[in-house]
Amino acid sequence: MLELQSKLPALGVTIFSVMTTLAQRLNALNVSQGFPDFPAPPALLEALCQATLEGQNQYPPGDGLLLLREQLAVQKQQQTGRSFDPHTEISITAGATIAIFCAIQAVVQAGDEVIIFDPSYDSYAPTVQLAGGKAIHLALQPPHFQVDWNQVKDAIHDRTRMIIVNTPHNPSGTLWSAEDWHTLIELIQDRNIVVLSDEVYEHLVYDGQQHYSALDFPALHERSFVIGSFGKTFHVTGWKTGYCMASPALMQLFRQVYQFANFCGVTPVQVALAQFMQQHPEHITELAAFYQAKRDRFQAGIQHSRFQWIPAQGTYFQNLDYRAIRPDLNDLQMCQYLAEQHKIVTIPISAFYQTPPDDLRLIRVCFAKKDETLDRAAEIFSAC
Ligand code: PMP
Ligand code: GLN
Repeated sequence: MLELQSKLPALGVTIFSVMTTLAQRLNALNVSQGFPDFPAPPALLEALCQATLEGQNQYPPGDGLLLLREQLAVQKQQQTGRSFDPHTEISITAGATIAIFCAIQAVVQAGDEVIIFDPSYDSYAPTVQLAGGKAIHLALQPPHFQVDWNQVKDAIHDRTRMIIVNTPHNPSGTLWSAEDWHTLIELIQDRNIVVLSDEVYEHLVYDGQQHYSALDFPALHERSFVIGSFGKTFHVTGWKTGYCMASPALMQLFRQVYQFANFCGVTPVQVALAQFMQQHPEHITELAAFYQAKRDRFQAGIQHSRFQWIPAQGTYFQNLDYRAIRPDLNDLQMCQYLAEQHKIVTIPISAFYQTPPDDLRLIRVCFAKKDETLDRAAEIFSAC
């Protein structure tokens, strides 16, 4: 007779799977889960075919193909003006999610506390729990989702081992300013606290604003894991390839875990990404304008609707306030109503909170979509 207990008893299926399944069941327009519905660059797809046909099909090095780590080092040097050693400071992983998982496992011991800003990406808290740590959720308040630094100060003490930052931020679309980073540094610089900086939307920043990475601040070098995702940057979320960057000492701890969690990533995918990055550096520099045009097209399409919004500063998500349409519904009910009555599937912002603020009336729309999908979505929202 088996008697097993869930290690995550309070949690069900992630909201992203729930909503995408709902869209498929209702044959509804899916602007919920974050993934592009347009193809990746043809040269990238050709590079993948070529890599497989050429026989690049066995295990790559556990830390990732050196060529790809080198490409990332080049790109990060251009971005930050700082050089990175691809041998000791960069690892390629099978997606950002496993990189987050391993970074947390690497440094969080039983009883350690990890500060998480809600709304937060849904893997953080369960991963902390699986490491035996305790997630301390600090709620950011809509509509501006700014960090309350007094609250952070009060939450930090000797058991605090990690603070998870996510900028550009999913789901709010906000960015951390240089001032946010400096305040964080002041609060943690004399403490045994590591920063996990989830920067998967690093290149998706709009209206001429700047993405500040943990890599930009020398005071954070020895204490930060920076996580990224090639899936987001190159329109291939299903390729599940990401990276972790950290100081050599932190990277050593990370690799100890990653080697047993996944050992390595997928060889031909890494070959294709490295070749594409080398041959098409413009892909990254043009990305913000590419997505800003999509955000703006979608916003223009809903300007006569009854939704209200603050334009996303980053990511490929736009939040919409539906208070003027159905104030009687909570956001999950609103998503269900939109799915069933209007055949469009979105994500409730409350799903990203441990304790959602009262009267939250926000849904998240993914605008990483073909123009025709955006126009159709705008048409539907305008009719609500
Ligand atoms: N962090 C955030 C904030 C995300 O939105 C995502 C999106 N999936 C991830 C991490 C995970 O990225 P990946 O698909 O590369 O695991
Ligand atoms: N990050 C994506 C989102 O926020 C989804 C990733 C996932 O499905 N786990 O929609």
